[in-house]
Amino acid sequence: MELWQQMIRDSVHSIDQLVDKFGIDRKVAEGLDEFFQARINPYYLSLIRYPGDPIWKQCVPDKAELDDIDGFEDPLQEDAMSPVPNITHRYPDRALFLTTSQCGMYCRFCTRKRKVGNSDKISMKELESAFKYLEKHTEIRDVVMSGGDPLMLTDTMLEKILKRLRQIPHIEIIRIGSKMPCVLPHRITQKLVDMIKKYHPIYVNTHFNHPWEITPESTKACEMLANAGIPVSNQAVLMKGVNDDADVMKELFTKLLKIRVRPYYLYMADETRGANHFRTSLDKGIEIMYKLRGHTSGLAIPHFVIDAPGGGGKIPVLPQYILHRDDNRIVMRNYKNEVFVYREAHADVKTETKIPVEINKKNGNGTNGNGNNGNGLKKPKNFKEKIEVTEMIHMSKN
Ligand code: SF4
Repeated sequence: MELWQQMIRDSVHSIDQLVDKFGIDRKVAEGLDEFFQARINPYYLSLIRYPGDPIWKQCVPDKAELDDIDGFEDPLQEDAMSPVPNITHRYPDRALFLTTSQCGMYCRFCTRKRKVGNSDKISMKELESAFKYLEKHTEIRDVVMSGGDPLMLTDTMLEKILKRLRQIPHIEIIRIGSKMPCVLPHRITQKLVDMIKKYHPIYVNTHFNHPWEITPESTKACEMLANAGIPVSNQAVLMKGVNDDADVMKELFTKLLKIRVRPYYLYMADETRGANHFRTSLDKGIEIMYKLRGHTSGLAIPHFVIDAPGGGGKIPVLPQYILHRDDNRIVMRNYKNEVFVYREAHADVKTETKIPVEINKKNGNGTNGNGNNGNGLKKPKNFKEKIEVTEMIHMSKN
């Protein structure tokens, strides 16, 4: 047995352990176990610094999960878009392929609780119909292996799947969605990366949410993947009490870059049953993005998205940088909240030097009386109910 497998075996998972280790009331622990079982491996457990800290919140079951009955079991409607077991086909040229129900840790905010945990939630017996679907649908050029966590499979099983996918000529890209580099980095062995790199192009999407998860162990794991030519990117989730702070996010994203992981997405938390206590306002996410752009390298800034409930896919959300737009010009703010004008290529602007900007409250440009424009940002310094901005005129030398 490999070290990582032993660490899975040694995980905190039983009701007795929840009561003894975390002081959870037995009745509540039973309810939580039935709702979504716990798995906290010794490595991730060792990252907890104090009760209720951002690591604890992500892995230790909380009574609040049982109080939330309004959330959806399948907020992204993955099951409704599943033509055969284990496949979700939402976007034209890519498909999600669920290969296991197991994870190195069970995250309390998980969107896929209905699929994760018991081994019967995703059946390995149904892989064949998934392969057949992928073979038949020649428009699919990108397969995202997920679960659960595909790196919970043994090297042998994982290689069987990769080999089979590589026999399908129209599949150009294989992505492995795995939280292992973060929650159980010991899984990333030299043997594993040597096997994976035979099936390039392979990408790994991982999932760090807090800078404390970047440790010597996770650094080594990400560097091993990168050294094998596997681009690694990160998908983080914005969560109350975990990372809803611009400084924490900046530290996370800049540290990820240092370990050669590219911040890719920052998600608003899904409307998942049992995870309402993690949700923040949208303004919080917009404020964080505004505090990142311009203040750190663009490489460290992920796309901020809402995965639309009902299966609408990822929709990007940006701070309101554009204050006004007409046929000729765009008036916008920069990261220092200063206002600038950009002229369209066709703009007929000769002598005009002042542009009146009408505030459009509907588009989020208006103020709400708090000096805040309704999307979490302060109004620009020279922003009034109606403002005039000076346009830069480039004078011709002739
Ligand atoms: S690793 Fe992913 S699939 Fe597994 S519990 Fe965490 S969020 Fe859910």
